[in-house]
Amino acid sequence: MKKINEDFVCAKCGKYVPIAKISCRNHCPYCFTSMHLDQKIPGDRKSECKGEMFPIEYKLSNGEIKILFKCKKCSDIHWNKSNIDDEISCLDEYIKKYYIEFI
Ligand SMILES: [Zn+2]
Ligand SMILES: [Zn+2]
Repeated sequence: MKKINEDFVCAKCGKYVPIAKISCRNHCPYCFTSMHLDQKIPGDRKSECKGEMFPIEYKLSNGEIKILFKCKKCSDIHWNKSNIDDEISCLDEYIKKYYIEFI
């Protein structure tokens, strides 16, 4: 399975997002939005949905922060690992902010 790790410009906040150093990046480290590109496996890029995904909760497991993303378009949810350069201190705030996206 080929994992795609690319740099991109975030469609939501407009910031340039460099290639992730450790794992495959699938969300913006600044505003935590993501696009529904992966189907089952993070990085598979098999989903046709391409809806906007927003964080709805997070947890700490095995010393790693995992973030639960929900797709605005199809309501699919999946856990993603956070990256080392994520602005994790802002995550709580963003989760509250994006709550209205799902009402
Ligand atoms: Zn962003
Ligand atoms: Zn979706």
